[in-house]
Amino acid sequence: MERYSVQKVIGEGSFGRALLVRCKSSQEKYVVKEVQLPKRHSELENSRREAILLSRMKHPNIVAFREAFEADDSLCIVMEYCSGGDLLQRIQQQKAEQFCVDDILRWFAEMCAAALHIHDRRVLHRDLKSKNIFLTDNGTIKLGDFGSACILNSDVWSLACVLYELCTLKHPFQASSWRSLIFKVCRGAYPPLPNRLPYELQYLLKQMFKTNPKDRPSLHSILTSHRVSRLLRTHL
Ligand code: ADP
Ligand code: MG
Repeated sequence: MERYSVQKVIGEGSFGRALLVRCKSSQEKYVVKEVQLPKRHSELENSRREAILLSRMKHPNIVAFREAFEADDSLCIVMEYCSGGDLLQRIQQQKAEQFCVDDILRWFAEMCAAALHIHDRRVLHRDLKSKNIFLTDNGTIKLGDFGSACILNSDVWSLACVLYELCTLKHPFQASSWRSLIFKVCRGAYPPLPNRLPYELQYLLKQMFKTNPKDRPSLHSILTSHRVSRLLRTHL
């Protein structure tokens, strides 16, 4: 953070703060979003996701990522400064006067282009709203706040079902009615694997069947960094 001098606070929320800063060497303005890191090690990955996902985006209608670093117990995400503020402020300033159709259509087209870029990278923003859509000084849309974004990994759950079937010859969620089936799926309640199988598989299935897709491992991490990846790599 020594490379930047803080000018003012431009946003405050449950996450921490958004600061307008100036880079001491280039004199360029940026925004630093400070996110409080959780104490629990298991939740760290969730907090880092925002920076990782934003860094993967490169589009004229998405706020440009510059760098991220961790200082003390917070994560700092340095990004492009959108001096036109957010679209909610812009709407509220408008008062009685309506926006012209040209502006409405251009902004909407820019938002769609940004969302398409995100979806093409198999990411969902999940918090699209006027407060998270920023404007540059010349009125161009920049989609921001990737704090709720996640990688589309719904295939991970389905692959877990197939893995379970291979291990047990049965489907993990069996029920006599829709109602109880939904109940079991939502609770992630399935009979455990037989003991003859490596414990890593049991653990992997537990992670892949997590109810919240955000908590499931990505295919990338299953194949490279998950506890089971060593077993899998010998079979690829
Ligand atoms: P939160 O996760 O709390 O919603 P945001 O990333 O949406 O955090 O930032 C909060 C507010 O700070 C935004 O609604 C916007 O007004 C302002 N802000 C954040 N980033 C920028 C930016 N790059 N340029 C201009 N304003 C920003
Ligand atoms: Mg926000």
